[in-house]
Amino acid sequence: MTSHIEKLCGDKGIKLTENRRIVAKIISESNDHPDVEELYRKAAKVKPNIGIATVYRAVKMFEEEGVIAKHDFGGKHRARYEELSDDHHDHLIDINSGKVVEFFNEEIEKLKEKIARDLGYKLVDHKLELYAVPLKK
Ligand SMILES: [Zn+2]
Repeated sequence: MTSHIEKLCGDKGIKLTENRRIVAKIISESNDHPDVEELYRKAAKVKPNIGIATVYRAVKMFEEEGVIAKHDFGGKHRARYEELSDDHHDHLIDINSGKVVEFFNEEIEKLKEKIARDLGYKLVDHKLELYAVPLKK
């Protein structure tokens, strides 16, 4: 089955090798913002002889082609990747576990536009990252 990333590449006239198709499919099917190591672990299950360098190059290529988004959440965590989608969302990062939670808040979106407007700008892109620890229960 053709993954969303593979389809985007096809639209751009980019042909994917088998290895790149595997990586594309894994990213398309992930909703946990995997890093390269995780992608490699999953890819190796599909194709045991795939190398981490191959996975790394595939990810870099997808990033350069603008079909995936790279998130550098800082701290001790490596860069994380996700498929680019039309729906905007922001991220909350659990700094203990590295878990990434997606959220969307209409008021915040409006506020971002207002802040830009009040400063004399039209907003064209934005991202918000919240770094947090779980509340004690
Ligand atoms: Zn996300």
